[in-house]
Amino acid sequence: MPIASSDRPRRIPTGAAVLSALLSTALSAALAGCGTTPQQPAPPPGQAPAAPPAGQGGARPERADRQELDARAAAAQREAAQQQAAQTAHRWGLAAVPLTAPPPPATKPPLGEGPGVRHQAGLLPVVYRVPTDAKVVFLTVDDGAEKDPEFSRMAGELGIPLTAFLSDYLARSDYGYFRALHQQGAAIDNHTLTHPDLRKLDRAGQEKEICGQQDRLEKEIGTRPRLFRPPYGEYTDTSLQVAAACGITAVALWNEEAFPDHMEWRYADQRLHPGDIVLTHFRGPGSWKGTMPDMLRRVLDTATAQGFAVARLEDYL
Ligand SMILES: [Zn+2]
Repeated sequence: MPIASSDRPRRIPTGAAVLSALLSTALSAALAGCGTTPQQPAPPPGQAPAAPPAGQGGARPERADRQELDARAAAAQREAAQQQAAQTAHRWGLAAVPLTAPPPPATKPPLGEGPGVRHQAGLLPVVYRVPTDAKVVFLTVDDGAEKDPEFSRMAGELGIPLTAFLSDYLARSDYGYFRALHQQGAAIDNHTLTHPDLRKLDRAGQEKEICGQQDRLEKEIGTRPRLFRPPYGEYTDTSLQVAAACGITAVALWNEEAFPDHMEWRYADQRLHPGDIVLTHFRGPGSWKGTMPDMLRRVLDTATAQGFAVARLEDYL
């Protein structure tokens, strides 16, 4: 059912709208219950209700007045934020407001060998699923062919954290696009200079591809990547040694892959799992069935429906 974007967000039957209505009711009840004079005259149109002057109201201590005002301001702020989130989600065609990721862990999870992590002694950890119980997944976007401004606008307005693994041969036609993405919070990481199958290269060749892209990204973006993704997910022990030597601390692979029109699942349960890394690509309608915003919509609606928030990979790895 299409709803004009000028409609009041309270008409949109989202969880946020329901929550904000509940909050309003709870707040009114709390205020009525703590002795505010409900007979106060209504303020003139366009003005906020006046706070009761300090010291009036008989035995009510000033501190209680202050607490009540603070609670009221906080509730109003929450409600405004929820309304805005509902409007933004609606504008981008999402089925619901994306869930907010929990605060990042105080310390990053250890990456010992286990489900979702391959870690041989002395080599970099290779991660498909970050060890965590939090209902979070991570969105990683590869290569860098399509530079769609609508995609970066959508991710920015919705506050969705992204990690881009860039290959120079595709990204270099416009590093400005990725600099802007980085400035709005995306991490920019290493996916080699020319996207080779690293298994076919000797050590010197791998150094050129991996360390060359470290230098290139540091120059173009302003920060040296910490994460590396080998093209096709293929690598050797040499790749891991070379990557570590030029500043990489972990290799990120993936479990699920997102497209505009479907998800590809690694496991038969066809579900997201806590800590899953989701792969997708900077691609346009010429190479898959839809746009990058269509892809992001599919990822977010899938995650929200399964109770997951998209979190920042660099907070965990
Ligand atoms: Zn790639």
